[in-house]
Amino acid sequence: MTDLKVDVTNLKKNYGSNQVLKGIDFKVANNEVVVLIGPSGSGKSTLLRCLNKLEEPTSGSIVIDGHDISDPKTNIDKARENIGMVFQHFNLFNNLSVGENIMLAPVELGKANKDEAMTTAKQLLETVGLADKFDAMPASLSGGQKQRVAIARALAMNPDIMLFDEPTSALDPEMVGDVLEVMKDLAKDGMTMVVVTHEMGFAKEVADRVVFMAEGHVVEEGRPEAIFEDPQNERTKAFLEKVI
Ligand code: ADP
Ligand code: MG
Repeated sequence: MTDLKVDVTNLKKNYGSNQVLKGIDFKVANNEVVVLIGPSGSGKSTLLRCLNKLEEPTSGSIVIDGHDISDPKTNIDKARENIGMVFQHFNLFNNLSVGENIMLAPVELGKANKDEAMTTAKQLLETVGLADKFDAMPASLSGGQKQRVAIARALAMNPDIMLFDEPTSALDPEMVGDVLEVMKDLAKDGMTMVVVTHEMGFAKEVADRVVFMAEGHVVEEGRPEAIFEDPQNERTKAFLEKVI
């Protein structure tokens, strides 16, 4: 058995004649926290979306937890249950309460009965610092609170890996810290994570590895201190000069 959670080899993704992933190799070990950085349009979101088949790869192989997700025999719904995803826009169901949002998937997919799902939802809300919001409606929450509910909702499926696509980019600056704290706690607890973010402080503090992408390629990767203090590639240097 391999201890790789994610094993992507030579992944290519075309939209028509536009090749946005040009042969990506991307590995994530069990319990590893990988921060993915790069200019807008470099293919970061497309890579994340390929990992749970929100996008169909054009070619290449994607193995998650030993299961080849491009193999038609692989049950993609089952595979997805183990992959939590948090987006820039939280996509909460506005007609459901916070508690109902978190309970929905585990109950619908038969992972838990209502009582179990409620107990889990309450525990998760405590973890994300929103213990008093079980009955609240999403519209009454701030952006940062909504995003923490979205994280709790993803965790309710008890995933093996969490994918974050710019989870703090749509938030007012004063909300960013609380969301990053929740993510730091998850990392400390050993969650395997892939995080696309422009929060370089988070990357320095939490990432085991930083991967820099540009124009559909992985250009450079390494320990955060190596990438931030001693980048080797000119494109990495140019990007970091702009964002730091
Ligand atoms: P990033 O997340 O790094 O900003 P994306 O993965 O969102 O980059 O996009 C990479 C490229 O793919 C961009 O040029 C974008 O316009 C293109 N792209 C992304 N999604 C689609 C789509 N559904 N259809 C066509 N082109 C797309
Ligand atoms: Mg993106």
